[in-house]
Amino acid sequence: MTQSSAPVTREKAPLRHVLIVGGGTAGWMTAAALARLTRNGETRVTVVESEEIGTVGVGEATIPPIASFNGLLGIDEAEFMRRTQGSFKLGIQFVDWGRIGDRYIHPFGGFGVDMEAVKFHQFWLMAHAAGAKSPLGDYSLCTVAAEMDRFTLPGDDPRTVLSSLKYAYHFDAGLYAAFLREHAEARGVTRQEGKLVDVTLRGDDGFIQSVTLADGTVIEADLFIDCSGFRGLLIEQALGAGYEDWTHWLPCDRALAVPCEGTSAITPYTRSTARSAGWQWRIPLQHRIGNGYVYSSAHIGDDEARETLLANLDGAPLAEPRPLRFVTGRRKRQWVKNCVSLGLASGFLEPLESTSIHLIQSGISKLLSLLPDRSFDPVLSDEFNRLSQVQFEQIRDFIILHYKATTRDDSSFWNHVRTMQVPDTLSRKIELFRSGGRFFRYDDELFSEASWVAVMLGQGIKPSGHDPLVHTIDPRAVADKLAALRGIIRRTAQAMPTHDAFLARYCPAG
Ligand SMILES: Cc1cc2nc3c(=O)[nH]c(=O)nc-3n(C[C@H](O)[C@H](O)[C@H](O)COP(=O)(O)OP(=O)(O)OC[C@H]3O[C@@H](n4cnc5c(N)ncnc54)[C@H](O)[C@@H]3O)c2cc1C
Repeated sequence: MTQSSAPVTREKAPLRHVLIVGGGTAGWMTAAALARLTRNGETRVTVVESEEIGTVGVGEATIPPIASFNGLLGIDEAEFMRRTQGSFKLGIQFVDWGRIGDRYIHPFGGFGVDMEAVKFHQFWLMAHAAGAKSPLGDYSLCTVAAEMDRFTLPGDDPRTVLSSLKYAYHFDAGLYAAFLREHAEARGVTRQEGKLVDVTLRGDDGFIQSVTLADGTVIEADLFIDCSGFRGLLIEQALGAGYEDWTHWLPCDRALAVPCEGTSAITPYTRSTARSAGWQWRIPLQHRIGNGYVYSSAHIGDDEARETLLANLDGAPLAEPRPLRFVTGRRKRQWVKNCVSLGLASGFLEPLESTSIHLIQSGISKLLSLLPDRSFDPVLSDEFNRLSQVQFEQIRDFIILHYKATTRDDSSFWNHVRTMQVPDTLSRKIELFRSGGRFFRYDDELFSEASWVAVMLGQGIKPSGHDPLVHTIDPRAVADKLAALRGIIRRTAQAMPTHDAFLARYCPAG
């Protein structure tokens, strides 16, 4: 790192140059979204990336808001799916989490319909207390369609059950970055190949003045976006933002990733199977299945993890398993001076609920809402950091829930996570739910009540009672409504094409 003594000018004038360091998913998503800044001819946007270093390249499952990100960029869905070998995702199937042998789906979208302002799952709890057997998933179109391997786009008519269908995508991460790169370059973003070797800070205020590449090229900018991955080249190595380590709650610190051949129908959901020291993902694409074992190195060796992964693939592996290491946590300040970090440079939460790409999207949208000028009013970075902290912590709690809510005692890993202390914010939610199935969503948190209910019930947290207000509605009317809902959801799912047939018609990748 170098210090400069050049004089500082912090005018209230538009940014002249935005430099994005890193061309992984974060770098190219950011470039595609910021390309609009180049329209007025005053601002340039550049991406520096190093082919030699490469990308992490494993983020392949998403959640529904990604469709609005694509929509904002004007991306055609069918073309995007074709180009990225994509498939559709209706939720995540969790296998062996609460107990070995358990299986449930955390679907997108909600369950049933609320009645007279009482939450639907309260009626389900009441019915179950009275002996009903149908699982909660029978009241979710996403769950029922996923179980039948069926998919279609949701209808426009809000009166139909089909309009309740929510979906996201699975895609090939390398193809996604290439697709976004083409999109961004066509809209005025410049790409510079090169390896960053030095960062120069201004002497008087410590802002980043420029970066230097291995070939000696010096690039100055007003705003620097650190998308350099786990390294955090600017935000941490140059600006020392600090890192809050959450390994004591989320002890998985390694992953092995391997693609394999797909051998049967392309399932419209991600699968997460709990293993002795972590969990294994299965992400079906049109041309292959992505797999990986996320594990705790304190509880299993790399060789055993590799054997477990390779023994549990649908088809022949298409590459050697690729090792990855990480420390779960977040950058204490994700925006420091004139540097904003996005993607892995800003922190890491394991991909159990496919949230990392969403965090990039949400970081970009916060940055656009708080876009600075050259004066860099600190009120903007303070707000960005506050909002990011809340969001990271809320998602962290939801992921910890999956580990805490288990009865598994078959390995040192499960004994550790089952008995660990969890954040108070999470304990409160679990206790409230245990007492009467109540849940409250704070501060626009990402995961809805339906998501929390799906995971809590799916992993065996049984409320000891239910909302007394359910008894203010005629029980026969409730029973009729439940039966009618189950029927219409099942019939709607049965009328959908298979996921394979839908992909072949809508977005065949060839
Ligand atoms: C095991 C695992 C599984 C995951 N699964 C999912 C998932 O299913 N869903 C999801 O949403 N997210 C997932 N993620 C997260 C997701 O992969 C990342 O959020 C996403 O890929 C963004 O990564 P990135 O662009 O920040 O970093 P990277 O992909 O690491 O990109 C960093 C970029 O910086 C460049 N760079 C680094 N150093 C230099 C240098 N010195 N000079 C020039 N350039 C440099 C690199 O070349 C690269 O272009 C997963 C992550 C892991 C580890």
